[in-house]
Amino acid sequence: MAGETRHSKAGAKTGAKAAAGLVVLDGAGARPAAGRVWLVGAGPGDPELLTLKALRALQGAQVVVHDGLVSDEILALAPAAAQRISVAKRKSRHSYAQDEINRMLVAFALQGLEVVRLKGGDPFIFGRGGEELEACREAGVECLVVPGVTAALAASAGAGAPLTHRGAAQAVTFVTGHAAKGSEPDLDWESLARPNQTVVIYMGLSMAPEIARRLTQAGRSPATPALIVENASRADERRRTTTLAGLADAAAELSGPALLIVGESMALARADAPAEVEVFAARIAELGGK
Ligand code: SAH
Repeated sequence: MAGETRHSKAGAKTGAKAAAGLVVLDGAGARPAAGRVWLVGAGPGDPELLTLKALRALQGAQVVVHDGLVSDEILALAPAAAQRISVAKRKSRHSYAQDEINRMLVAFALQGLEVVRLKGGDPFIFGRGGEELEACREAGVECLVVPGVTAALAASAGAGAPLTHRGAAQAVTFVTGHAAKGSEPDLDWESLARPNQTVVIYMGLSMAPEIARRLTQAGRSPATPALIVENASRADERRRTTTLAGLADAAAELSGPALLIVGESMALARADAPAEVEVFAARIAELGGK
């Protein structure tokens, strides 16, 4: 494009276009003297769910700092010469602390490099992207954010169970099931227990029994349809359709990464839904006609 060619020649005038994410990344001449950090959402796994903007950022990367949820097919889209650094969180081995990652991103950018910080899903949904953005801001390093398809959207799409649905799900809430060792997730159970809303729990697989118990105690019906999706959008995706009462047992069959989704509209998930949820499916079908 003419505008972008001009832009790439005038190497210093990167400000406005770069801020709009429109900079050309396919030629060395397009790179500004100062490096930058791109916080890029890689989506849930399927490379076709990458945005075009994410693809372009990746193609222009000199360094790719990625976490464990990013698939090899997506990493392969970066130039062969780009340095790839995994900062995957591993349960047993040393994993990078967040501030080490922040420092690494800033240090590469200050060396003048195009740094792509590639994260599973969306960088700002339980991805600690905000902390990385803050670190760049503090260091005076330009940081651009490219959103990605968060796991919940892929899980719902794959199962054919909408997160919002007329008459059955007026709201959707994304929560984290993560809890400090020996404790339970600290969530507003009262509000999550209200009917006609979808609750998507990230990082909640191992806490499924506690989550189901707390939601039920707070008043959510044990018959509420539920869905668990492991490896959403990947070739090895697995799903379990269940109810709140069956959530813990269904979770025990999966190993993650997985989402727990609780809500009436999960009755629309295809495949072997237990009989109890059919009552919801029937009610939703009725509403659809009105
Ligand atoms: N930023 C990511 C979430 C990171 S938190 C996003 O927007 O999707 C990590 C948690 O996300 C995992 O524990 C799991 O609960 C969920 N997750 C990520 N990718 C997933 C996938 N492909 N299928 C199911 N759950 C996934």
